[in-house]
This record gives sequence, C-alpha cells and structure tokens, in this order.
Amino acid sequence: MQLRFVGCGDAFGSGGRLNTCFHVSGRAANFLIDCGASALPALKRLDIDCNDIDLILVTHFHGDHFAGLPFFLLDAQFARRTRPLTIAGPQGIETKLTQVMEALFEHASKTQQRFELNIVELVPGQSQSFGAVTVMPFPVVHGESGGPFLAYRIEAEGRTLAYSADTEWTETLIPLAHGTDLFIAEAYMYEKVVKNHLSLKTLEQHLPDIGTRRLVLTHMNDDMLSRLDDITHLAAEDGMVLVF
Ligand SMILES: [Zn+2]
Ligand SMILES: [Zn+2]
Repeated sequence: MQLRFVGCGDAFGSGGRLNTCFHVSGRAANFLIDCGASALPALKRLDIDCNDIDLILVTHFHGDHFAGLPFFLLDAQFARRTRPLTIAGPQGIETKLTQVMEALFEHASKTQQRFELNIVELVPGQSQSFGAVTVMPFPVVHGESGGPFLAYRIEAEGRTLAYSADTEWTETLIPLAHGTDLFIAEAYMYEKVVKNHLSLKTLEQHLPDIGTRRLVLTHMNDDMLSRLDDITHLAAEDGMVLVF
C-alpha cells in the first residue's frame, strides 16, 4: 500500500502547505482521505488520476478537509467520469455537500452526474466496507461547529492505517491507532495544550499505549513547523510518499 500526502497543511496555509488530502492506493484500493479546498490542483500537480479514485473519506466539514469536493465533483462531471464514486463521512454529509456545492457553484448541486455518486454516512463504532477498504470511525473532539468529527482506522490489503483527523487529545486515539502499520496524527502545536487540537508533547506521552509501527505528523502550525529540525518523528510534507 502507498500513501501520498497530497496536502498536509492546516487551515491557515502554514508553511505554504496545502490543505489536508491523502491519496491511498494499492493493488485494488484507490481512495482519498479528506479533500481540503486545495485538493484538486494538488492532485493534478502530482499526476494522480482523479477519475480512478473510488472513495473519498471525509473526517469533518471544515473547509481545509472538505471544501475541495465541489471542485472534485465538477471536474469529474466535465472530465466525463464514468466510474462510480462514493463519498463517506460524518452524519449530515449529504446536506453539507449540497450546501457547499451551492455556495461555490450555484445550481451545481442539482446537476445529475453522469456517473453513479453514492453519499454514505459513517457512524462511530460501526465499521463499513467499500470494496477492498474497511473503515472503522471513531469519535474525536474538535469543538462545536463543523462536526460531527471522526477519525478513521482503515484496513485494506492486509495493512492498517489510522488518521486522527483534527482533535484534541482523547483516549479514543489509543484504540484508533493501536497496532497500526501507519498512524497519521495531527501535531498542530508543539507543546502548548489548546482546545480542539493536539500538541506533539501530549501525543508523545501516549505513544507507548498507542503502539503504532510508524507515526507521521501532519496539520502542523508555524510554531511546530519551525521545530522540525529538532524532532525525531517523521513529519509529513506535501508530495511525500510512504509505502506501508
Ligand atoms: Zn484542519
Ligand atoms: Zn478542523
């Protein structure tokens, strides 16, 4: 399995990094995790064929994770996509998607796609399979608006991957990522503890319990990015490829 960081930035463009979007592919699996506002040009810059992507998993409805969908769908329509597409995310995703489509491209939500488009609500604790990919959603803690907020533990082709999404520390992250081959964790702050986001120092305290085989940090603010030279953990970069 291969994961490519199409974008690993926060909502503020820190470090010039693009909004969150990860592309995961294997023998059969081909999906995105999150589709932030900058996702479509970022995918094209990396020569990733959007029309081969079967599934987009959305963690929450903040623009840096979700607002790329209208562009992705519009491009699929104009590119005469025929392959079915599933978009799965938290409760309310169908309404949120309609709203963001209408806000950015009026009447676009009423356009009948040439391809089959399935919108699926994911419920914490209920695993769901999409072809070769099985997803277990976990609830995380990320404030009052833009939710529900889900982190995902994903199994595909004998490999396990977890993504914390945006969250402050919650014990849920332990079963989410325990024993995974790859854990992509938000490290928004370096050590300061804030609401709604995770700091590296907090995360480090729990790494023995989490017990992932490989940790990668993402969604870092300017302060965190300025300390990367002093950090021993692997930190994501836009375009970085990991085989796991
Ligand atoms: Zn974010
Ligand atoms: Zn967020």
